[in-house]
Amino acid sequence: MKKIAEVLISKKFLTAAIAILLAAMFVCEFSARRRVVSAERETYKLGTVVHITAYGSDKKALDAELDAAVNEITRLENLFSVNIASSEISKINSSDRGAGVGAETAAIITEALRIAGETDGAFDPTIEPIVKLWGIATDHPRVPGKGEIEGALPLVDYRRVSVSGGNVSKGAGQKLDLGGIAKGWIADRLSDKLRADGIKSALIDLGGNLSVVGESSERRAWRLGLQRPSSSRGEYFAIIEATDLSVVTSGPYERYFDRDGVRYHHIFDPKTGYPAESDLSSVSIVSKNSADADALCTAFFVMGLEKSVRFLKAHKDISAVLLTKDMKKVYATTNIKDKLTVEDKSMSLEFIGGRGD
Ligand code: ADP
Ligand code: MG
Repeated sequence: MKKIAEVLISKKFLTAAIAILLAAMFVCEFSARRRVVSAERETYKLGTVVHITAYGSDKKALDAELDAAVNEITRLENLFSVNIASSEISKINSSDRGAGVGAETAAIITEALRIAGETDGAFDPTIEPIVKLWGIATDHPRVPGKGEIEGALPLVDYRRVSVSGGNVSKGAGQKLDLGGIAKGWIADRLSDKLRADGIKSALIDLGGNLSVVGESSERRAWRLGLQRPSSSRGEYFAIIEATDLSVVTSGPYERYFDRDGVRYHHIFDPKTGYPAESDLSSVSIVSKNSADADALCTAFFVMGLEKSVRFLKAHKDISAVLLTKDMKKVYATTNIKDKLTVEDKSMSLEFIGGRGD
C-alpha cells in the first residue's frame, strides 16, 4: 500500500515538474521572441540602393553595427570605385604600367584575376575601356562605332595584369573595372564583421547582391526571392532558403538603354566588346563567398547556358540557378535541390550536375 502511494506521489510530482518546466520554457521562448529588436539602414552607395537589416536584443548595439557597416562600404567604395578619382583603382588606371596599392585592393584584384582565369576571361576585370565607350550607367549612354570597339578591345586582357605583394602591374593603357565583383567582395567583409561581433541574424542587400548572417528573425532559414527578369522589383520566380549564405544574381535587365528599337545592357562579352548575347535571362549563384558568386554569375551570363552547364559539371561545389532567355526553363545544380522552390508554374525545372548527382 505504501509502495503504491509512493509511486502515485512520485508520478504526481513528475507530472508537476514537467508542467513547471514546460511553462518555464514557454515563458523563456515568449520573452526571447518579444525581446527581438531590429535596426535597418537604407542608403545609395556603390551605384545602387544598399539595404541592411540586423536583428538582436540590443537596439543600441545593432545601430552601432549598422552605422559601422555603412561607413565600411563608403571606405571600400573609396578604394575600389572606378568613378572616384582618388580611389586606388583610379590610381592604377591613370598610371602607365601599374601602381602600388593597399592589401585590400591587392586582394580583390587577385580574386578577380582568379575568376577571370577560371572562366577563360568571360569575367574580365580589364573590361573598363569597353564599359567607358558604352557609358551604360551614365547619363549619356551611346552605341560606339565599330572602330572604337576594335580600338579598345586589345586592352581587355586580364592575363597582362598581375599582383605581387602590394604592386599591381598591367599592360600599357589597360584599365580595371571591378563593378562585377566589388559588391560581393564588400558584402563578404560586412557579413564577416557582423558575425565576428556576435550578430546572429542579418540581411545585407547591396543592390540585389544578397548575403545573410545566421537565420531570419523567425529563427528559420531566410527565404530569398530570385527576381523575375523584366518584372517590377519584388516579383520572384523562385525562392532560395539560405542560412549564412550569399545569393547573387546577374541579368541584362538591371541596367540598359534602348536605341532604335534595340536594347543594350551592361554585361559585356570581353571577346566582342558588345553586350553579351546570352541565351540566359538570369543567373544566380548561391555561395558562402559572395565575391566569387558575384563574379561567377556575371561570367555565366556571358558564357551562356551550354558553357555554364559544362563549367558546373566540372565544379561540383558551385550552386547555381540559370533561367533561359524565353523564361520557360530553370536549370539548377542538384546541390541546392532542398533549398530551391520554383514558384512560377509556367517554368519547368531541370537539375544539372552538382554534389549528390
Ligand atoms: P550588377 O552590378 O548590376 O549587379 P554584375 O555583377 O553582372 O551586375 O556586374 C556588371 C558590371 O560589371 C558592369 O556594370 C561592369 O562594370 C562590369 N562588367 C561588365 N561586363 C563584365 C565582364 N564581362 N567581366 C567583368 N566585369 C564586367
Ligand atoms: Mg557580378
